[in-house]
Amino acid sequence: MPCYSCPAGMTILRLSISSGRSGVELARSFYDEIIAHARQDAPDECCGILAGDGDGRIVRSYRATNIEHSPYRYNVDPRELLRIYNQIEGQGWELRGIYHSHTSTEAYPSPTDVRLAGWPDAYYLIASLKDPEPVLRAFRITEGTVSEEPLRIVED
Ligand SMILES: [Zn+2]
Repeated sequence: MPCYSCPAGMTILRLSISSGRSGVELARSFYDEIIAHARQDAPDECCGILAGDGDGRIVRSYRATNIEHSPYRYNVDPRELLRIYNQIEGQGWELRGIYHSHTSTEAYPSPTDVRLAGWPDAYYLIASLKDPEPVLRAFRITEGTVSEEPLRIVED
C-alpha cells in the first residue's frame, strides 16, 4: 500500500484501533494545541501526530514538520514520523491520528488528502482556519472513501 508520509519499507507501521468505540475523544488542551499550531504555521498547513491509549483517548500530541511548507498540502517529515512512532511504541500507546490544517478551506479532506491517505486505521483530523472561529473535524479515509467520525472534546 502506498503511504506518502512513510519512507519506503516502513510497512512496520501497523496501526490498530483496539477500542470498540468509534470516534475520537480529545481533551480541550489538545484541541487548543492543534489550533495554536495551525495558527502559528499559517498560511502554510501544519501537521502532527496523535497518540492514543487502548481506550481510544488521545494521550499525547506531537507537532511535526510539514516538509512541503505549503498552504495547499502537507507531508509529515518521515524522519520525525519514525522518531515519534518509536516514542509512541515505547510508551505502549498507539498512533491514533494525524492532524493537519487547512488555512483557507473547509475542514474536509481535499482530493489530494484522499488520494494520499495511506493509513486506513488512523483518524485524520483537519483544523480549518477559514472562518474566524476555527473548526476541527475527524475522518477515516479508506481506499478513497471519506467517512466523518464523531469528535468529542472533553474538558481536561
Ligand atoms: Zn488537507
